[in-house]
Amino acid sequence: MEKICSVKECKNIVHGRGLCDKHYKKWQRYKDPLYTQLHHKTNTRSYSSWEHMNQRCNNVNHKHYKHYGGRGIKICERWKDFKKFYADMGDRPKNLQLDRIDNNGNYEPGNCRWVTSKINNNNKRHNIYGRKLTIKQVQEIRKLYPTHRQWWIAKRYNIGRQAVSDIVNYKTWKYA
Ligand SMILES: [Zn+2]
Repeated sequence: MEKICSVKECKNIVHGRGLCDKHYKKWQRYKDPLYTQLHHKTNTRSYSSWEHMNQRCNNVNHKHYKHYGGRGIKICERWKDFKKFYADMGDRPKNLQLDRIDNNGNYEPGNCRWVTSKINNNNKRHNIYGRKLTIKQVQEIRKLYPTHRQWWIAKRYNIGRQAVSDIVNYKTWKYA
């Protein structure tokens, strides 16, 4: 009886070193019979984020274009190449999304991170209050809070009083 490849769930006949022809070739090349498979899987999540980022910023027909490319959000020169984006951001962890720290900033190293959809939506919620804040403004608001009234801060930053309350109580912008 012929032996079956030792790779889990592979039913092919052994070619060499307990591996089938396909997996043996990968072992020869990468010293890992699963090399491409694993690499491909992790890399795919990052690629799909990169692809969506491009769509939001460059495809005028994308349903969210107006919130991205339409209001001047750009992708930096370096990240037009997926390989460089991948080198900077690495694998996208499961269930996390690409987030811009400063919502008015571009897609570029230093302004992007992987976050849960909850944090991402927290940031987006500032839209409801009229406008988006930058991380710097959030930090300023927290510095002003002990000595200024919330309504005064709200007026100064053109946001709602609830938004100020959420910021100073760390209900939003938890990581700013
Ligand atoms: Zn195999």
